[in-house]
Amino acid sequence: MSKRTRRKFVRDLSTLIAAGAATDLSMGAIPFPFITGNTSAGSAIKQGKTFVGIQMSPHTMLDEGIEACLDLIAETAGVNAVFPYSHAFHTSSLGKPVRYLAKDHGKPPRDLRNKVPAVWVRHNEKYFKDTVLRIKATDKELEFSDRDLFKEIRQPANERGIKVFARILESTGIFIENFDSVLTVDSYGNPGRKACWSNPGYINFWKAVVADMFNSYELDGFQWGAERMGPLMNIILPWNDDPPACFCKHCIERGRAANIDTERAREGYRLLYEYVRRLMTDSPKPPEGVFTVFLRHLIKYPEILSWEYLYRKSREDLQKGMYETIKSIKPDALVGWHVDHQPSSWDIIYRAEMSYEEMAPYSDFIKLILYHEVLGPRIRSWYLDRFKKTILSEISLEQSLELYYDLFGYDKNQEPPVDKLFSEGFSPDYVRRETARSVASANGKTQIFAGIGIDVPGSPPDDPETVYMATLNALEAGAGGIVISREYEEMSVKNLEAIGKAVNDWENKS
Ligand SMILES: [Zn+2]
Repeated sequence: MSKRTRRKFVRDLSTLIAAGAATDLSMGAIPFPFITGNTSAGSAIKQGKTFVGIQMSPHTMLDEGIEACLDLIAETAGVNAVFPYSHAFHTSSLGKPVRYLAKDHGKPPRDLRNKVPAVWVRHNEKYFKDTVLRIKATDKELEFSDRDLFKEIRQPANERGIKVFARILESTGIFIENFDSVLTVDSYGNPGRKACWSNPGYINFWKAVVADMFNSYELDGFQWGAERMGPLMNIILPWNDDPPACFCKHCIERGRAANIDTERAREGYRLLYEYVRRLMTDSPKPPEGVFTVFLRHLIKYPEILSWEYLYRKSREDLQKGMYETIKSIKPDALVGWHVDHQPSSWDIIYRAEMSYEEMAPYSDFIKLILYHEVLGPRIRSWYLDRFKKTILSEISLEQSLELYYDLFGYDKNQEPPVDKLFSEGFSPDYVRRETARSVASANGKTQIFAGIGIDVPGSPPDDPETVYMATLNALEAGAGGIVISREYEEMSVKNLEAIGKAVNDWENKS
């Protein structure tokens, strides 16, 4: 039986088992039983020396009960670090539909969309003197708005040998006052929807947030992320229709200081954006070739690439500012960055711009999203289909996928063909290869944490054997630790246990 066929067999088997379990639950004898492998003598998962973090939405922990939740993650997956959001600026609501939530955590999940806060720490005005931005007050009607999670969790976490990391995803200004003052400016001179990395008001805002948090709370670490693409990638692989940014006065100043012709950068971006937008319509394709004319824009306007790099550098500088602020308050805190799925696994421009070694001076760790199952649908919808509409329309989807596998160093014999991308995820071999590549990119200067994804919505179903192999592969490939992802509330116990077993086996072997 080939590896792929075997995987499919295991998956079918686990689906059958899951179906059986669902039948039992529907009979309602014991709702949502909490049964784990560690209930039998000798099979307990142990917390070890390997860093095992887990991401979660804060309200889940409060809903399930802090102690029960910490016990569950320690006893199933050997978790020794929790990553609840302190700020969830990336979404209007942390709650999720019940169909996305695990049913075996010992308590029935609830749909808490628009019912829980986005910000989970209490801020102090005195830290925000250098910015006009303020975090909006939490609506007191929201459930758990009276709770102070990062204070409440401290003692129970200490008692269980679990570190506490605050986790943030930035994005729009839904929860931030005066956000208009830091917005990007696009190549047409119009304001964008997100903040500019180079705006001192935004830079100082983030320094204020982390200074406040590390002065006011006892935190062991911090993870910050921004799921945005650079201006060039968002043209050729459009996540949204926004024109390229940023050309605000602060970016123009940075551009001039870097000896870039800022007007030519703006013009180049405008023309490239308009060219790709035309490609996405039914208008005739350029007779000289779609990809050729794309290259012509870069050759005529090399400022496009310079501006893209400037954008990336300004993002890194913002992270550096937070790193130095935290270290000045708590030198032994672990500070690192969330690299989301696109930059970890298909944004070749992000990858080309700098190595992880170059980020190391302000990174104690870099956590990569390595969700093997959901990568299949994502590559189909977010990569192949989009490139087909833009600059890779001249090659077939099959050719495009083969090119992707080869350029990223993945094994096309292990990974799915085009017609299986939606139904089959990537293999644990992808996790191994991407971890090894990232460890090499870090060159021993910073730690790579592998973000192992389980039960991610939109994903083909996980099975414990594949989850086990993905975890083991990450550790064998040199990951300094793992961070179980996306969020705890989505994760089934059987997959958490598969991770715990892989980590235990790895430690017993090494
Ligand atoms: Zn700007």
